[in-house]
Amino acid sequence: MTTVVNPATEEVIAELESAGVEETDAAVARAKAAFPAWRKVAPADRARLLRRLATLVEEQHEELARLESRNVGKPISGARGEVGMVAQVFHYYAGAVDKHLGETIPVAGGVDLTFREPLGVVGLIVPWNFPLNIASWKLGPALACGDTVVLKPAELTPLTAVRLAELALEAGIPEGVLNVLVGKGSVVGQRLIEHPDVAKIGFTGSTEVGRQVMRGAAGTIKRVTLELGGKSANVVFADADLERAAAAAPYAVFDNAGQDCCARSRILVEASAYDRFAELLVEATRGVRVGDPEDEATEMGPLISAAHRETVASFVEAEPLFRGDAPDGRGFWYPCTLVEARPGDRIARDEVFGPVAALIPFVDEEEAIRIANDSDYGLSGSIWTENGARALRVARAIDTGVLSINSNSSVRVSTPFGGFKQSGFGRELGMHALAGYSEIKNVFYSTEG
Ligand code: NAD
Repeated sequence: MTTVVNPATEEVIAELESAGVEETDAAVARAKAAFPAWRKVAPADRARLLRRLATLVEEQHEELARLESRNVGKPISGARGEVGMVAQVFHYYAGAVDKHLGETIPVAGGVDLTFREPLGVVGLIVPWNFPLNIASWKLGPALACGDTVVLKPAELTPLTAVRLAELALEAGIPEGVLNVLVGKGSVVGQRLIEHPDVAKIGFTGSTEVGRQVMRGAAGTIKRVTLELGGKSANVVFADADLERAAAAAPYAVFDNAGQDCCARSRILVEASAYDRFAELLVEATRGVRVGDPEDEATEMGPLISAAHRETVASFVEAEPLFRGDAPDGRGFWYPCTLVEARPGDRIARDEVFGPVAALIPFVDEEEAIRIANDSDYGLSGSIWTENGARALRVARAIDTGVLSINSNSSVRVSTPFGGFKQSGFGRELGMHALAGYSEIKNVFYSTEG
């Protein structure tokens, strides 16, 4: 049985049957049986079905947002934004179905053509921090390419994925094309990774489980894309608009209570501006509204679970520079916390996945780049400076998949998202994601004889 809890109240909000190996095999068999017909659906018809799903998500926007908010403990305003993005993602990939083009390549003796073929059955394994959003980033391109899907949401947050499967049927997507399995990673996830009829695993989660996915996929030479952890740098130069940078910085760490792979949880500040920036940052962090996720004004909710709160707390070993307020009583609350650190400290190296930011001074541009790159991860990051040449120079020098200049932004529907180094590989979103859910076939057609 999978028991689902509201992290803000600790109340049980649902109990669902857990799938085991047998149910996983049955779902893969359904997806396999649905594949031949689904791959042949005319592009315009597949696009129409995806667009219909996008419209149903828009129509159920408030219901889905409330479900996600209650299940993850995220503020309702943020949950609404995420569900809005889910609809946009399905609209985008509806539009992409007939724009994923092949080539004709000049060769001697004939015509050479490339085709983008679907992979078959793909297994999608997603985490609990942005459950529906991250599922849609994988589902959109997979369905657009003509793949059929078995989606496994995290045990803690299965509710919106189950609802989405209902909406997909209502949209007219044929039975068997999108299957959702609620169950344990070590059972359902593991079986998907090993299953000979699953062609690819699209995984988002921790780097540790990402390694297991990669190892497990070796047995059947499965394709994998891995979107893993992060420890991103927010680099603030002395010539930046310090007020603007400090006002934005808390939201680059404390959004989703820090449970964000893109969290800029290392704040690197040029030494000559450090004291002033730290003062502004403390003030801005004091302003983050922590509390009931259903309150429209709330900006940060609780952590996902009691066990996760313990892990987060274990990172704060010394007296912090600042610790905010958080509700007492029921709920897995943890306050916004700012810690001063050196690059080698545990808090500056490991992913906390909670509302804890490490402030680190640097003396010049060279040192800023060195510290930013001194990490096993490379997912996102920001650079704050009024010097445009420096901004681009530093952006090119930091080994990370997505960067923003004078902004916290990481993710847009139409732009590629993914990691360098141990943050994983493969790209989601934009037209780039289609490459991860299709195979290139080359066909030579002789014109001789
Ligand atoms: P997790 O790795 O524990 O779990 C992710 C998913 O994998 C869940 O569905 C889980 O059930 C499944 N799983 C667990 N063990 C498995 C196994 N042995 N075999 C197959 N599947 C298994 O991660 P989490 O705690 O749910 O999420 C937090 C992590 O996800 C953080 O490290 C965060 O940085 C990362 N994340 C990355 C991105 C990104 O796009 N790069 C986005 C969001 C979260």
